[in-house]
Amino acid sequence: MEEKKILVTCSSMPPFEEYTDEIKELWETVWLTNSGAKHRELERKLCDYTGVRYVSLFVNGHQALENIIAAYKLKGEVITTPFTFVSTTHAIARNGLKPVFCDINRENYTIDVSKIEALITKETSAIVPVHVYGNLCDDEKIEEIAAKHGLKVIYDAAHAFGVFRGGRSVLNWGDASMCSFHATKAFHSIEGGAAFMHSAEIKEALEAMKNFGMTSQETTDYIAGNAKMNEFQAAMGLCSLRHFKDEVSKRKKNAERYYANLSGIEGIKLSVPLSDVESNYAYMPVLFDGYSMTRDEIAGKLAEHNIYARKYFFPPTNEFSCYRDIASKQEGTPVAKHISENILTLPLYASLAADDIDRICAIITNR
Ligand SMILES: *Cc1c(COP(=O)(O)O)cnc(C)c1O
Repeated sequence: MEEKKILVTCSSMPPFEEYTDEIKELWETVWLTNSGAKHRELERKLCDYTGVRYVSLFVNGHQALENIIAAYKLKGEVITTPFTFVSTTHAIARNGLKPVFCDINRENYTIDVSKIEALITKETSAIVPVHVYGNLCDDEKIEEIAAKHGLKVIYDAAHAFGVFRGGRSVLNWGDASMCSFHATKAFHSIEGGAAFMHSAEIKEALEAMKNFGMTSQETTDYIAGNAKMNEFQAAMGLCSLRHFKDEVSKRKKNAERYYANLSGIEGIKLSVPLSDVESNYAYMPVLFDGYSMTRDEIAGKLAEHNIYARKYFFPPTNEFSCYRDIASKQEGTPVAKHISENILTLPLYASLAADDIDRICAIITNR
Protein backbone atom coordinates (compact mmCIF):
# COMPACT_ATOMS: atom_id res chain seq x y z
CA MET A 1 0.00 0.00 0.00
CA GLU A 2 1.29 3.45 -0.87
CA GLU A 3 2.08 5.53 2.16
CA LYS A 4 0.23 8.78 2.75
CA LYS A 5 1.76 11.70 0.88
CA ILE A 6 3.25 14.37 3.14
CA LEU A 7 4.43 17.67 1.68
CA VAL A 8 6.68 20.20 3.39
CA THR A 9 3.66 22.32 4.26
CA CYS A 10 -0.12 22.32 4.16
CA SER A 11 -2.12 25.55 4.33
CA SER A 12 -4.45 25.96 7.29
CA MET A 13 -8.02 26.69 6.24
CA PRO A 14 -10.57 28.53 8.38
CA PRO A 15 -13.94 26.79 8.86
CA PHE A 16 -15.71 27.03 5.47
CA GLU A 17 -18.68 29.01 6.90
CA GLU A 18 -16.39 31.50 8.56
CA TYR A 19 -14.90 32.42 5.21
CA THR A 20 -18.25 32.48 3.38
CA ASP A 21 -19.67 34.72 6.15
CA GLU A 22 -16.68 37.00 5.75
CA ILE A 23 -17.15 37.40 2.00
CA LYS A 24 -20.99 37.56 2.06
CA GLU A 25 -20.97 41.36 2.32
CA LEU A 26 -19.09 41.59 -0.93
CA TRP A 27 -22.28 40.51 -2.74
CA GLU A 28 -24.02 43.50 -1.16
CA THR A 29 -21.32 46.14 -1.48
CA VAL A 30 -19.97 44.81 -4.79
CA TRP A 31 -16.64 46.40 -3.85
CA LEU A 32 -14.09 43.75 -4.78
CA THR A 33 -10.72 45.50 -4.69
CA ASN A 34 -9.11 48.99 -4.42
CA SER A 35 -8.94 49.46 -0.64
CA GLY A 36 -12.32 47.98 0.26
CA ALA A 37 -13.74 47.45 3.75
CA LYS A 38 -11.99 44.07 4.27
CA HIS A 39 -8.70 45.53 3.12
CA ARG A 40 -8.99 48.45 5.53
CA GLU A 41 -10.01 46.19 8.40
CA LEU A 42 -7.09 43.80 7.83
CA GLU A 43 -4.66 46.70 7.62
CA ARG A 44 -5.93 48.12 10.92
CA LYS A 45 -5.80 44.73 12.64
CA LEU A 46 -2.25 44.11 11.44
CA CYS A 47 -1.15 47.47 12.85
CA ASP A 48 -2.70 46.51 16.20
CA TYR A 49 -1.21 43.02 16.17
CA THR A 50 2.33 44.14 15.32
CA GLY A 51 2.40 47.57 16.92
CA VAL A 52 3.83 48.99 13.69
CA ARG A 53 2.47 52.45 12.80
CA TYR A 54 1.89 51.91 9.07
CA VAL A 55 1.01 48.80 7.09
CA SER A 56 0.43 48.67 3.35
CA LEU A 57 -1.13 45.49 1.92
CA PHE A 58 -0.02 43.97 -1.36
CA VAL A 59 -1.14 41.26 -3.77
CA ASN A 60 1.91 39.23 -2.69
CA GLY A 61 5.09 39.55 -0.66
CA HIS A 62 7.38 39.95 -3.63
CA GLN A 63 5.51 43.04 -4.86
CA ALA A 64 5.63 44.48 -1.35
CA LEU A 65 9.43 44.15 -1.25
CA GLU A 66 9.97 45.36 -4.79
CA ASN A 67 7.81 48.43 -4.12
CA ILE A 68 9.37 49.22 -0.72
CA ILE A 69 12.78 49.27 -2.39
CA ALA A 70 11.40 51.52 -5.15
CA ALA A 71 9.75 53.86 -2.63
CA TYR A 72 13.10 54.55 -0.95
CA LYS A 73 14.51 55.61 -4.34
CA LEU A 74 17.70 53.67 -3.69
CA LYS A 75 20.71 53.94 -5.98
CA GLY A 76 23.70 51.76 -6.79
CA GLU A 77 24.39 48.72 -4.62
CA VAL A 78 22.39 46.84 -2.02
CA ILE A 79 23.97 44.38 0.41
CA THR A 80 21.96 41.19 0.89
CA THR A 81 22.40 37.44 1.41
CA PRO A 82 22.12 34.70 -1.20
CA PHE A 83 20.71 32.18 1.30
CA THR A 84 17.07 33.04 0.65
CA PHE A 85 14.21 32.56 -1.77
CA VAL A 86 15.15 34.08 -5.13
CA SER A 87 12.46 36.76 -4.67
CA THR A 88 14.74 38.76 -2.34
CA THR A 89 17.49 39.09 -4.93
CA HIS A 90 15.01 39.72 -7.77
CA ALA A 91 13.34 42.56 -5.82
CA ILE A 92 16.70 44.34 -5.69
CA ALA A 93 17.79 43.60 -9.25
CA ARG A 94 14.40 44.45 -10.79
CA ASN A 95 14.80 47.95 -9.32
CA GLY A 96 17.96 48.39 -11.39
CA LEU A 97 20.15 47.96 -8.31
CA LYS A 98 23.15 45.70 -7.97
CA PRO A 99 22.83 42.96 -5.34
CA VAL A 100 26.06 42.60 -3.37
CA PHE A 101 26.14 39.17 -1.77
CA CYS A 102 27.22 38.99 1.86
CA ASP A 103 27.85 35.63 3.48
CA ILE A 104 25.69 34.24 6.31
CA ASN A 105 26.66 33.14 9.79
CA ARG A 106 26.78 29.48 10.85
CA GLU A 107 24.63 29.99 13.94
CA ASN A 108 21.27 30.90 12.44
CA TYR A 109 22.01 31.43 8.71
CA THR A 110 21.21 35.16 8.69
CA ILE A 111 23.58 37.84 7.38
CA ASP A 112 27.10 37.66 8.89
CA VAL A 113 27.31 41.15 10.39
CA SER A 114 31.10 40.92 10.69
CA LYS A 115 31.31 40.82 6.88
CA ILE A 116 29.02 43.71 5.97
CA GLU A 117 31.37 46.66 6.33
CA ALA A 118 34.00 45.24 3.99
CA LEU A 119 31.33 45.22 1.25
CA ILE A 120 30.28 48.85 1.65
CA THR A 121 31.42 51.17 -1.15
CA LYS A 122 30.40 54.71 -2.04
CA GLU A 123 27.68 53.16 -4.22
CA THR A 124 26.01 51.30 -1.35
CA SER A 125 22.56 52.61 -0.43
CA ALA A 126 20.90 49.89 1.64
CA ILE A 127 21.06 46.54 3.40
CA VAL A 128 18.34 43.96 2.74
CA PRO A 129 18.80 41.24 5.37
CA VAL A 130 16.54 38.17 5.61
CA HIS A 131 15.05 36.66 8.77
CA VAL A 132 15.44 33.27 7.13
CA TYR A 133 13.08 30.60 8.59
CA GLY A 134 12.04 33.28 11.11
CA ASN A 135 15.58 33.14 12.59
CA LEU A 136 16.40 36.70 13.55
CA CYS A 137 19.13 38.89 12.12
CA ASP A 138 21.48 40.74 14.48
CA ASP A 139 19.43 43.93 14.28
CA GLU A 140 21.54 45.96 16.72
CA LYS A 141 24.72 45.48 14.75
CA ILE A 142 22.92 46.06 11.44
CA GLU A 143 21.40 49.33 12.72
CA GLU A 144 24.79 50.45 13.99
CA ILE A 145 26.46 49.83 10.62
CA ALA A 146 23.56 51.44 8.74
CA ALA A 147 23.64 54.55 10.92
CA LYS A 148 27.40 54.89 10.55
CA HIS A 149 27.26 54.70 6.74
CA GLY A 150 23.88 56.34 6.12
CA LEU A 151 22.22 53.21 4.70
CA LYS A 152 18.56 52.15 4.70
CA VAL A 153 17.65 48.81 6.26
CA ILE A 154 14.78 46.90 4.64
CA TYR A 155 14.12 43.45 6.07
CA ASP A 156 12.86 40.53 4.05
CA ALA A 157 10.65 39.33 6.90
CA ALA A 158 8.65 36.97 4.67
CA HIS A 159 9.12 34.25 7.33
CA ALA A 160 8.78 36.45 10.40
CA PHE A 161 5.11 37.33 10.73
CA GLY A 162 4.19 36.53 14.33
CA VAL A 163 7.79 36.54 15.61
CA PHE A 164 8.27 38.67 18.70
CA ARG A 165 11.41 39.47 20.69
CA GLY A 166 11.09 40.85 24.18
CA GLY A 167 7.35 41.09 23.54
CA ARG A 168 7.74 43.32 20.47
CA SER A 169 7.04 42.28 16.88
CA VAL A 170 10.27 42.15 14.87
CA LEU A 171 8.39 43.88 12.04
CA ASN A 172 9.20 47.10 13.92
CA TRP A 173 12.88 46.73 13.03
CA GLY A 174 14.76 48.74 10.42
CA ASP A 175 13.26 51.33 8.09
CA ALA A 176 10.73 48.83 6.76
CA SER A 177 9.94 45.12 6.62
CA MET A 178 8.21 42.95 4.06
CA CYS A 179 5.97 40.02 4.98
CA SER A 180 4.59 37.33 2.72
CA PHE A 181 1.09 35.96 3.26
CA HIS A 182 1.46 33.26 0.61
CA ALA A 183 -0.50 30.03 1.13
CA THR A 184 2.71 28.25 2.19
CA LYS A 185 3.48 30.74 4.96
CA ALA A 186 2.44 30.37 8.62
CA PHE A 187 -0.07 33.22 8.23
CA HIS A 188 -1.73 33.47 4.84
CA SER A 189 -4.27 35.35 2.73
CA ILE A 190 -4.11 32.81 -0.17
CA GLU A 191 -1.58 35.08 -1.91
CA GLY A 192 -0.68 38.32 -0.22
CA GLY A 193 1.91 40.41 1.47
CA ALA A 194 2.54 43.62 3.34
CA ALA A 195 4.98 46.41 3.95
CA PHE A 196 5.48 47.48 7.57
CA MET A 197 7.07 50.88 8.15
CA HIS A 198 7.36 53.90 10.44
CA SER A 199 7.35 56.59 7.75
CA ALA A 200 4.09 58.27 6.73
CA GLU A 201 5.76 59.43 3.54
CA ILE A 202 6.76 55.90 2.46
CA LYS A 203 3.29 54.62 3.35
CA GLU A 204 1.75 57.30 1.13
CA ALA A 205 4.13 56.48 -1.72
CA LEU A 206 3.34 52.75 -1.46
CA GLU A 207 -0.40 53.33 -1.54
CA ALA A 208 0.07 55.10 -4.88
CA MET A 209 2.73 52.74 -6.21
CA LYS A 210 0.59 49.63 -5.86
CA ASN A 211 -2.07 51.35 -7.98
CA PHE A 212 -0.11 52.44 -11.08
CA GLY A 213 1.49 55.34 -9.21
CA MET A 214 -1.78 57.26 -9.25
CA THR A 215 -2.12 59.81 -6.45
CA SER A 216 -5.65 60.87 -7.48
CA GLN A 217 -7.96 60.30 -10.45
CA GLU A 218 -6.07 62.92 -12.43
CA THR A 219 -2.55 62.77 -11.02
CA THR A 220 0.14 60.11 -11.39
CA ASP A 221 3.42 60.72 -9.55
CA TYR A 222 5.24 57.37 -9.96
CA ILE A 223 5.92 54.96 -12.80
CA ALA A 224 4.47 51.86 -11.17
CA GLY A 225 2.43 48.74 -11.75
CA ASN A 226 -0.57 47.09 -10.15
CA ALA A 227 0.01 45.20 -6.91
CA LYS A 228 -3.20 45.61 -4.92
CA MET A 229 -4.59 43.03 -2.50
CA ASN A 230 -8.22 42.22 -3.32
CA GLU A 231 -11.14 41.78 -0.91
CA PHE A 232 -11.22 37.97 -1.13
CA GLN A 233 -7.59 37.82 -0.07
CA ALA A 234 -8.18 40.32 2.73
CA ALA A 235 -11.17 38.27 3.92
CA MET A 236 -8.95 35.17 4.12
CA GLY A 237 -6.37 37.24 6.00
CA LEU A 238 -9.01 38.29 8.55
CA CYS A 239 -10.02 34.63 9.07
CA SER A 240 -6.37 33.50 9.34
CA LEU A 241 -5.63 36.23 11.86
CA ARG A 242 -8.52 35.10 14.09
CA HIS A 243 -6.99 31.61 14.23
CA PHE A 244 -3.33 32.59 14.21
CA LYS A 245 -2.67 32.11 17.91
CA ASP A 246 -4.02 28.57 17.67
CA GLU A 247 -2.04 28.03 14.46
CA VAL A 248 1.21 28.95 16.20
CA SER A 249 0.51 26.82 19.25
CA LYS A 250 -0.17 23.76 17.06
CA ARG A 251 3.00 24.41 15.09
CA LYS A 252 4.92 24.85 18.33
CA LYS A 253 3.72 21.50 19.63
CA ASN A 254 4.82 19.83 16.39
CA ALA A 255 8.16 21.64 16.33
CA GLU A 256 8.84 20.55 19.89
CA ARG A 257 8.16 16.96 18.93
CA TYR A 258 10.85 17.24 16.25
CA TYR A 259 13.24 18.86 18.75
CA ALA A 260 12.63 16.01 21.22
CA ASN A 261 13.24 13.38 18.53
CA LEU A 262 16.26 14.95 16.85
CA SER A 263 18.19 16.91 19.44
CA GLY A 264 21.49 15.69 20.86
CA ILE A 265 22.30 13.64 17.75
CA GLU A 266 25.82 14.00 16.40
CA GLY A 267 25.80 15.72 13.00
CA ILE A 268 22.24 17.06 13.26
CA LYS A 269 21.71 20.76 13.97
CA LEU A 270 18.27 22.23 14.66
CA SER A 271 17.17 25.88 14.69
CA VAL A 272 15.62 26.18 18.16
CA PRO A 273 14.24 29.65 19.03
CA LEU A 274 16.21 31.65 21.59
CA SER A 275 14.71 32.12 25.05
CA ASP A 276 13.67 35.77 24.57
CA VAL A 277 12.05 35.04 21.20
CA GLU A 278 8.43 34.07 20.61
CA SER A 279 8.69 32.09 17.38
CA ASN A 280 6.01 31.43 14.75
CA TYR A 281 7.43 27.93 14.08
CA ALA A 282 7.12 28.55 10.36
CA TYR A 283 9.77 26.02 9.24
CA MET A 284 11.73 23.01 10.46
CA PRO A 285 15.19 23.46 8.93
CA VAL A 286 17.64 20.69 9.86
CA LEU A 287 21.34 20.86 9.03
CA PHE A 288 23.09 17.54 8.37
CA ASP A 289 26.75 18.27 8.87
CA GLY A 290 28.98 15.33 9.68
CA TYR A 291 25.96 13.01 9.92
CA SER A 292 25.99 9.38 8.74
CA MET A 293 23.85 10.31 5.72
CA THR A 294 24.00 13.37 3.49
CA ARG A 295 21.13 15.81 3.10
CA ASP A 296 20.42 14.47 -0.37
CA GLU A 297 20.37 10.86 0.84
CA ILE A 298 17.89 11.78 3.56
CA ALA A 299 15.68 13.70 1.12
CA GLY A 300 15.75 10.63 -1.16
CA LYS A 301 14.95 8.22 1.65
CA LEU A 302 12.02 10.33 2.83
CA ALA A 303 10.73 10.52 -0.76
CA GLU A 304 10.70 6.70 -0.92
CA HIS A 305 8.17 6.93 1.89
CA ASN A 306 6.13 9.55 0.02
CA ILE A 307 7.43 12.33 2.30
CA TYR A 308 8.60 15.43 0.49
CA ALA A 309 10.95 17.61 2.48
CA ARG A 310 12.37 20.61 0.60
CA LYS A 311 15.90 21.86 0.00
CA TYR A 312 15.14 25.39 1.20
CA PHE A 313 17.28 27.20 0.07
CA PHE A 314 19.27 25.43 -2.61
CA PRO A 315 21.16 26.65 -4.51
CA PRO A 316 22.06 30.06 -3.05
CA THR A 317 20.66 32.78 -5.32
CA ASN A 318 24.13 33.92 -6.44
CA GLU A 319 24.50 30.55 -8.21
CA PHE A 320 21.43 31.00 -10.43
CA SER A 321 22.31 31.59 -14.09
CA CYS A 322 20.68 35.04 -14.03
CA TYR A 323 23.05 36.20 -11.27
CA ARG A 324 26.19 34.36 -12.32
CA ASP A 325 27.67 37.36 -14.13
CA ILE A 326 27.31 39.73 -11.18
CA ALA A 327 28.32 37.10 -8.63
CA SER A 328 31.42 36.03 -10.55
CA LYS A 329 32.92 39.50 -9.98
CA GLN A 330 32.27 39.30 -6.23
CA GLU A 331 33.76 37.45 -3.27
CA GLY A 332 32.24 34.02 -2.77
CA THR A 333 29.83 33.16 0.05
CA PRO A 334 31.25 29.83 1.27
CA VAL A 335 29.08 29.51 4.37
CA ALA A 336 25.89 30.12 2.39
CA LYS A 337 27.06 27.51 -0.11
CA HIS A 338 27.85 24.98 2.60
CA ILE A 339 24.58 25.46 4.49
CA SER A 340 22.59 25.43 1.26
CA GLU A 341 24.10 22.05 0.33
CA ASN A 342 23.46 20.45 3.70
CA ILE A 343 20.16 21.78 5.02
CA LEU A 344 16.74 20.23 4.62
CA THR A 345 13.38 21.71 5.57
CA LEU A 346 11.18 18.99 7.04
CA PRO A 347 7.37 18.99 6.87
CA LEU A 348 5.84 21.27 9.52
CA TYR A 349 2.27 22.52 9.69
CA ALA A 350 -0.58 22.77 12.17
CA SER A 351 -2.43 19.62 11.07
CA LEU A 352 0.67 17.40 10.85
CA ALA A 353 0.10 14.36 13.09
CA ALA A 354 2.47 13.48 15.92
CA ASP A 355 2.98 9.92 14.64
CA ASP A 356 3.91 11.27 11.22
CA ILE A 357 6.60 13.38 12.88
CA ASP A 358 7.84 10.31 14.75
CA ARG A 359 7.85 8.34 11.50
CA ILE A 360 9.83 11.07 9.68
CA CYS A 361 12.36 11.22 12.52
CA ALA A 362 12.69 7.41 12.63
CA ILE A 363 13.53 7.38 8.91
CA ILE A 364 16.19 10.05 9.48
CA THR A 365 17.72 8.37 12.51
CA ASN A 366 17.42 4.84 11.08
CA ARG A 367 15.50 3.53 14.04
C1 LIG B 1 7.75 33.67 0.14
C2 LIG B 1 8.95 34.55 0.11
C3 LIG B 1 8.99 35.74 -0.62
C4 LIG B 1 7.93 36.15 -1.61
O1 LIG B 1 6.66 36.21 -1.10
P1 LIG B 1 5.40 35.92 -2.04
O2 LIG B 1 4.25 36.29 -1.14
O3 LIG B 1 5.41 34.49 -2.41
O4 LIG B 1 5.50 36.82 -3.22
C5 LIG B 1 10.10 36.56 -0.50
N1 LIG B 1 11.14 36.22 0.29
C6 LIG B 1 11.16 35.07 0.97
C7 LIG B 1 12.33 34.76 1.84
C8 LIG B 1 10.08 34.18 0.88
O5 LIG B 1 10.13 33.00 1.52
